[in-house]
Amino acid sequence: MRIFIIFFLMSFAHAYNSCEIILLKDKNFHIACRNPILNTDIRLYEKKNPNRTVIALPKFWKLKYDKNSGYEVKHLKNAYYIVIKKIFSPKLEKEIRHNHISFYQKKYNEYCEWAQMNRAPFLIVIDPGHGGHDPGTIVKSHQEKNIALTFAKTLKKSFEGLHLPIKVVLTRMDDRYLSLNQRKIIAQKNQADLFISIHADGSPNHAARGLSVFTLSNAGASSTMAKLIADKENKVTTKAKKALLSFDREININRSRQFSQALLVHLSHSVSLHTNQPEYANFSVLRSLNMPSCLIEIGFLSNEEDRNLLIEPFYRKFLANQIAVSTSKFFNPQRSEMKKVCRNKQSVNWIIVRQGDNLTKLSKRHQISIKALKLINNLKSDSLAKNQRLYLS
Ligand SMILES: [Zn+2]
Repeated sequence: MRIFIIFFLMSFAHAYNSCEIILLKDKNFHIACRNPILNTDIRLYEKKNPNRTVIALPKFWKLKYDKNSGYEVKHLKNAYYIVIKKIFSPKLEKEIRHNHISFYQKKYNEYCEWAQMNRAPFLIVIDPGHGGHDPGTIVKSHQEKNIALTFAKTLKKSFEGLHLPIKVVLTRMDDRYLSLNQRKIIAQKNQADLFISIHADGSPNHAARGLSVFTLSNAGASSTMAKLIADKENKVTTKAKKALLSFDREININRSRQFSQALLVHLSHSVSLHTNQPEYANFSVLRSLNMPSCLIEIGFLSNEEDRNLLIEPFYRKFLANQIAVSTSKFFNPQRSEMKKVCRNKQSVNWIIVRQGDNLTKLSKRHQISIKALKLINNLKSDSLAKNQRLYLS
């Protein structure tokens, strides 16, 4: 009795198994056994000189294989060795499923798709002109610096009210002096996508009224008026040296012009305009920027009608909303870019049986013999069930 128990334990530890090696395509192979396989039963080695992959199987196994398989099978004292005269790259992997082992090379298929990449919010820097000791135009008790600041805050709210991916930063939130360079640094630090400077005009001609949009000119001021305003708005700094225009700058200048034009077309339906074309001027504050930019003179403080509108909160809100809507239409802040994203997807070694599939069709489609399919999947008959999982290795 004791001897029997010892024998039983021994035979369990080194479980006898009857197995068959099935050759598959692409140098993959499969071992189907009668009894369950333990992970510890199998050892896989990569050997050099000559390069070879060696698989060691328990010597107790009864192994059935094709002598002309292309694999060398050695039955030595302590184990079976399957020798494959080549190092696989990628390495041979093993997968044990109950009484089956798959030896296969992990294959990765590059899988690409167009994915929507959301970009950072569209960032607008709004720059209320003047401030601190520089009041800008003064008419009666009204100072341009205050009108510009109040309007800039209203415009910020209008942009935020659109609930679009737009972020607004103001160069100043209170009555303080900022040099043109400081304004530029704020725009660049925030990596602004758009820079809008807000001013209110003043003219000796009290009849002059309406909103104007100024944008940068390559060739200097486009009209006497633009030149006069440019001189006035630039007086806070020494005349900046003419910088050579880079290609980027040229793109920004063109974009600024297109935007200014679109803005004026939109505003022309509801707002009194001074000119219905963008004015070109050489504003220092715009010239040094590396993003589309414009300067809006929201009206003439020197004109009574304009002045009454500009101090009216309702009009400011209306104008701000019009500018925000037009700007968001032009720049489409909902922008997202489509990007091709590729990743390596591991190819699966199984398929799902579809309606109309049978062993013959699947054998041809996946270049695997019917015999192998049946052995790998433990199929007792030729019939397949819909949605059944079939292993190919
Ligand atoms: Zn101004």
